Amino acid sequence: MIKFLDLQAVNLQYQAEIEASLLRVFRSGWYLLGNEVKTFEKNLSSYIGTPNAIGVANGLDALRLIFRAYIELGVMSEGDEVIVPSNTYIASILAISDNGLVPVLCEPDLDTYNIDVNNIENLITSKTKAILIVHLYGRAVFSEKLVQLAKRYELKIVEDNAQAIGAEWHGIKTGNLGDAAGFSFYPGKNLGALGDGGAVTCNDVELANTIRALANYGSNQKYVNTYQGLNSRLDEIQAAVLDVKMKYLDDENNIRRRIAERYNNEITNSKIILPIAPQDGGEHVWHVYVIRCQKRDLLQQFLMELGVQSLIHYPIPPHKQEAYKFWNNHSFPLSEMIHDQVLSLPISPILSNEEVDQIINMINKF
Ligand SMILES: *Cc1c(COP(=O)(O)O)cnc(C)c1O
Repeated sequence: MIKFLDLQAVNLQYQAEIEASLLRVFRSGWYLLGNEVKTFEKNLSSYIGTPNAIGVANGLDALRLIFRAYIELGVMSEGDEVIVPSNTYIASILAISDNGLVPVLCEPDLDTYNIDVNNIENLITSKTKAILIVHLYGRAVFSEKLVQLAKRYELKIVEDNAQAIGAEWHGIKTGNLGDAAGFSFYPGKNLGALGDGGAVTCNDVELANTIRALANYGSNQKYVNTYQGLNSRLDEIQAAVLDVKMKYLDDENNIRRRIAERYNNEITNSKIILPIAPQDGGEHVWHVYVIRCQKRDLLQQFLMELGVQSLIHYPIPPHKQEAYKFWNNHSFPLSEMIHDQVLSLPISPILSNEEVDQIINMINKF
């Protein structure tokens, strides 16, 4: 069987180095807020190009903490609105509503699956304070038009960079395009830990200090609490593993690009809508390779019977979730169509050429 993602095989590529890093932390006797996190933060900040990087417990917390810090700093307050794509993963939206802010859903562009910048201006009200862009599926989304909108209406641009670490837009890394960015190191992400992990990057040092304090009980100095914070820290063990794996991130992203290019060139079945490679100066790091098919469920079953595992990102749109009942009757037709038709094919740095051949042949026979 070709697994959607064989995490064991991905991590075993670096077995010796990862085991050495685990042992080092174990033997050090220091497990939180130590040198491993410091080193990883330093390396992440130089990789992304922002002066600040803060390790946190997971990707959802990274985004929650950004909005929470803006509230503490008086930039936003309860009831303010944040524009977010309607087809994103639910965590982007949870990060907004968890802070008492109001998510305002914006339909995506079908060619990119990212927020359609042309739909944003209509949604801006006097309460709008930010746009949460999501580099969905690993594709960088950014534009001059977005920057101009943010300037004109004095909005923050926050990036959900859970899926696109390593991608660039005109030579600038995602995570350094907007005012602040949240990263996830969930094991299956392009840079994955051996458990949960996340980070925030930003240029504003005051914002960074606030987030660092908020993630540590609201304290920048032991037993002195400036905010009613939370406990959201990146473990030393995870930081040590991430620091090993970050060295190989660009190589792994390049392998993903080569596989995507093969799929794009060699899948010729007219029942399949292939992703369109970016041509706007933005890059794709193919966290997932997403095709569309009107007979999606049949295709998924067909592949499964032939031994290929595929996944759906995502089966239910946020506005149809019970968690957001008040949206259940609203209509977001593009988002609904996407959720009905998308299917993600295996794409990972350990997929062999022969496996890619097999997947292409099967899809062309469907
Ligand atoms: C994975 C993911 C998150 C949440 O990250 P966790 O580390 O799982 O909390 C947020 N947004 C998007 C788009 C994601 O893919």
